[in-house]
This record gives sequence, C-alpha cells and structure tokens, in this order.
Amino acid sequence: MQALFIHTRRITTIIISLVVFAVSVLSSGVAQAQAVKCPANIKDNLGQCSCPVGTSDMDCQALMGPWPNWDPLSNNYASCDAAAATALTGSDNAQKVYNFLIGKGLKPWMAAGFLGNIWEESAHEFDPTIVQGGGHADNITVDGVTGYGIIQWTSKGRQQGLADLAKERGVKSGDLGVQLEYIWQELNTGYTTSTLNPLLASTNVTDATHIIELHYEIHAAPPIHPIRTEKAIGYLALYGSGAGDASATVPATAVASGCGAAAGALGGAVDGFIFPLVTTQGAIKGNKPYPWCSTAMANCHHDYNAADIMTAEGTQVVAAYPGTVVMTENIAGKNADVAIMGDDKNVYFYQHMAPGSLQVQKGAKVTAGTPLGKVGNRAAAFGTDPHLHFDMLPPPNTNRMGCASAACSKYPFINVQPILVKAFQALPQ
Ligand SMILES: [Zn+2]
Repeated sequence: MQALFIHTRRITTIIISLVVFAVSVLSSGVAQAQAVKCPANIKDNLGQCSCPVGTSDMDCQALMGPWPNWDPLSNNYASCDAAAATALTGSDNAQKVYNFLIGKGLKPWMAAGFLGNIWEESAHEFDPTIVQGGGHADNITVDGVTGYGIIQWTSKGRQQGLADLAKERGVKSGDLGVQLEYIWQELNTGYTTSTLNPLLASTNVTDATHIIELHYEIHAAPPIHPIRTEKAIGYLALYGSGAGDASATVPATAVASGCGAAAGALGGAVDGFIFPLVTTQGAIKGNKPYPWCSTAMANCHHDYNAADIMTAEGTQVVAAYPGTVVMTENIAGKNADVAIMGDDKNVYFYQHMAPGSLQVQKGAKVTAGTPLGKVGNRAAAFGTDPHLHFDMLPPPNTNRMGCASAACSKYPFINVQPILVKAFQALPQ
C-alpha cells in the first residue's frame, strides 16, 4: 500500500532543468545548455544545474554541499550499505562474520549459532567463494542446484537475490561483506517469522544453532547435525567469552547499523510525545538544501498535513508516541514504513525507512522512543533526499490509508508541526 511519494521539489528541479535546457537550445541554436551559471560540478541527473535560476555559485555550493555521502561529480549518494559491507573487522572470516552479526544487535550465542552452521556449510573454510562439490568461484552461478558461499545458497530465488545485491553494490557475489549483508536482508524480509524472531527469542547457543539450521539453512538432509552446535559452542567460548545464558537480556529486535547518521540522542517528552529521530537540533538544522521547516508553526509539507524531516541516511527512527504497530511494509529496493495506532487513538505513520531496517512488527507494543527502523537512502525515498516522512490521522481511522501526495489532501491529516516543533526543542542542542 502507501508508498509512492512523488516529491514536488524534485519534480520542480527537473522541470526547471528541462525548461532551461529547452530555452537554451531555442535561443542559442546549439544543443549545449549554458543558460544557468553554476559550479561545473553541480549537475543533476540530466546534466543540468540543480540550483534555481539566478542562484550564485556560492549559494549553489552551499545548497548542494552538506549532504552526507553526496558525490558532487555524479550527484549521487554513496551507498551506506556498500560502505558497511567493506568495513568488516576481525582477524579472520569467522571473526568478521561474528562481529558483523554482533554489530547488527544479535547476542553472542545467536552469532555463534551462525558460525556453527557456516562452519559446516562452507566445508570448514569460511570462504565466501566456495562452490558446492568442490572448488571456488568469484561469482555465484544462478542455477537453482549448486550451493554457493557461506550459506551455500541453493534455491534459484535466493541465489538470484545474492547476485542482484552484489550487482547493486558493484562487488562480486563472492564478497564476504555482500554475503553478510544479504543474510541480514533475508532475515529481515522472507525469514523474519521463521528465523529472525525465534532466534531473537532464543536464550542459548544450542537453540540458536538449531533455529538457523532448520529454518534458514534448511539443508537437504535433516535431522539436526550435532557438529554445528558443537562448533557454535566453541566459537561462543572463543569470541563471546562463553556469554549466553537465559538470564541475559535479549533485545526486542535487532538493531541495524547505519552510516552517515550524526551522533544524537532521544529527545525529551512533551505531553508524552518525543521527536521521532535520534538526533540533535544542530544536525537537523544543518540539513540543506531542504531543512525541515522547524521554525514554522504552520504545515510546511508539500501537499498535505505531514512533515518531511530531512536527515542523514541511517538515522535511527523511533516511535514518537506509545501505541501498537498496526502496519509494516518492507519493499525491497524502495521503502520500509510503519503505522502505529497511538494510545491517544491517532494513527502515526513513519515512512521512507530503509528496506530491511525495520525493528518492529505488526502487533508490537511500542513506547515513545522504541526503535522502528533507519532512514533510507535517496533511492528508497523515490528520488528525494534522505528523510523521514511523518504524519498523523485522527479517529475514527484505525490504519494509514494508501494515499500519496495530493491524493492525501482530502483526508483529515492532523497538522503535526506544532507538536513536532515542541519535541524538537526538547532534543539535545
Ligand atoms: Zn513526505
């Protein structure tokens, strides 16, 4: 449902560019657009200046410069995920796998459970290029038959998924980082109910190893292989100091790591409502060229009562108000969204999070500050800059309807700016 937000700012930019181009061609008689003076490296995807006509070089640079991960030459944002995939730490692949999973919020026995499984799947090598039946290859063969990589992905759909992600990241499918990212993506999409949730609820390494083996690896020859648990226990002792007992705190959900997100903190509560991002006032004010219009008490969304809070990709999104999750959606390559029925009976909607980053599920009870997901990248937000879209519907609505853009203007969305502004002022400086 609700997903496609066409942001008029972007459209306006493109239209300006097209008009400028057309006028230039008509007036000069040559196909070289020079009508707008702007820094040579400030170009949009059409090769045109992205700044409004008449903007000075300095203003244009100021407008276009501060975005995290923004590459002025390509006018694109470097992928957070790609950066994360290359930033593995550890003295060998086993430790890199362990550290990656711990970094995602898994507890030591859960990460060790993966290691026990991967140990056997990869013929004890932990080599991501390993091919079933012997040998190694830099890239996966999508044939639906031959297991490949640390999980020995065998079904055609899962093989294709790895190949696609590697292509998207510009790396070979035998890259350890992209395989780990793919594991995490699978756990947060098709394997959430079967694997991730039971894993997060597990309290010991034996259960964790079995869950992964039975529901994620799904090897061809059950029953359980005891060697996996034996190895997992060994890795838990090696990397986790043996940590893993029932008394340890299990996270309600795993925490996806982000990059580019500035340091920040949860804001203070105003009438039980907090700012829906872990950030600071300075970080939000510093977002250009389109800062959230925090100084305006009136609505400043582009088409209906809502807020677009521009912020760095990877910024932690949290519930602004207590309630119950009534809808989540996770669309690969696009958006992840959450709707929450507040305890005040308003429906709160959080949109444009990164696919695979969701940290709650339908039915979950949340309090103000419960992590929901991470702000997505530009592609995830359909051609706009990274931001959280936030809106509120009053009773008797019980969920967020699937409207987008101007089509939403016929619904009674609440003007969220006044409470947002107050909550903003309760953020750290
Ligand atoms: Zn919006």
